Amino acid sequence: MMHGISPEESALREAPSILTIDLSALAENWRTLSRKCGRSECAAVVKASAYGLGIERVAPALWNAGAETFFVAHLSEGVRLREILPQAVIYVLNGLLPGTAPTFARSQLRPALGSTPEIAEWSDFCAAEKVDLPAAIHLDTGMHRLGLSVDETLRLADTRRLLAFTPSLMMSHLACADEKGNPATERQLAVFTDLVRRFPDVPASLANSAGTMTGQDYHFDLVRPGIALYGGAPIGGGAALNPVVKLQARVIQVLTAERGEGVGYGGAEHTRRETRIATLSLGYADGVFRSVGSSDARPGAAAIIAGRRCPLIGRVSMDLMSVDVTELPEGAVERGDLATLIGDGITLDAFAAVAGTISYEILTSLGHRHLRRYLGG
Ligand SMILES: *Cc1c(COP(=O)(O)O)cnc(C)c1O
Repeated sequence: MMHGISPEESALREAPSILTIDLSALAENWRTLSRKCGRSECAAVVKASAYGLGIERVAPALWNAGAETFFVAHLSEGVRLREILPQAVIYVLNGLLPGTAPTFARSQLRPALGSTPEIAEWSDFCAAEKVDLPAAIHLDTGMHRLGLSVDETLRLADTRRLLAFTPSLMMSHLACADEKGNPATERQLAVFTDLVRRFPDVPASLANSAGTMTGQDYHFDLVRPGIALYGGAPIGGGAALNPVVKLQARVIQVLTAERGEGVGYGGAEHTRRETRIATLSLGYADGVFRSVGSSDARPGAAAIIAGRRCPLIGRVSMDLMSVDVTELPEGAVERGDLATLIGDGITLDAFAAVAGTISYEILTSLGHRHLRRYLGG
């Protein structure tokens, strides 16, 4: 039996990989955005378990920072969030599935109603129950994914008195706000501005993170940032706020391969000299996509070990990956040490770029095999 080791210390030693989530940085990011949008309310988008970071910890941290309105994608996410934040305003972005209105009502959730049948079903439910339950109306201003068309919105403006509920938010979503200067964004702004004029008593919301950063014209009454809260860069090439996530993996073996040997599955990369290799306990089952692997034809991602950038060598396996540590001083890396894949100067967006994807997909793919450590909050 081992003495003097706390359960936390023991869990840390045993962890194949560690995902550190800085709740203080997250709260600071929310405050930064909230300041930026002045008198408009700053909500928080926490769909997909807060972009994979864990809604149980993320939502209370945002609430304590001052956020009062939250957006999830699914009804089940809303039900869960209601247990965590009894007093928050919670919108369900994917709207109302047939027959689910009672569940919305029971958990005091607000659907984002994006079609005429959804609006009719919510209105009928409110009439039958003799209650006026708030809901958002989702307008399609050019993305063609969800929402009422311009014609349907104009018709709604004319027939609104027939509804058995009072809309609490007119919202739309920007398709291209992450591409600076894309004219589609200004067109969506113009369409939205024209439509919400017809609902002067209902608060309006258009901006995601990128829209929030783009400028005051996009703020309306409420902004809906997601990725910027979690440390992703909202506008192509633009600066991210504080990093929130750090991903580290354990070195489980250090070995030497002769010059000209293949490394990993398929022998996809060959050593160009005698090479020291650190094998890490992390792979594509942990959200480190195979696309960050390295081959003779194309370099891949890197890891920070002992303060130095070490390139991956060979393909990423399900639970393992290899790093070339030849450049590190003798003895600088040993079994049990930690290598950093995201953090220590490697940004989330840089890592995503090597993987050929976006920060959102990386965060939501990190999975549940990491030891999750929450700082602050
Ligand atoms: C996901 C989402 C957001 C947040 O977008 P970010 O780019 O992460 O800021 C806002 N509004 C809607 C409708 C969304 O689906």
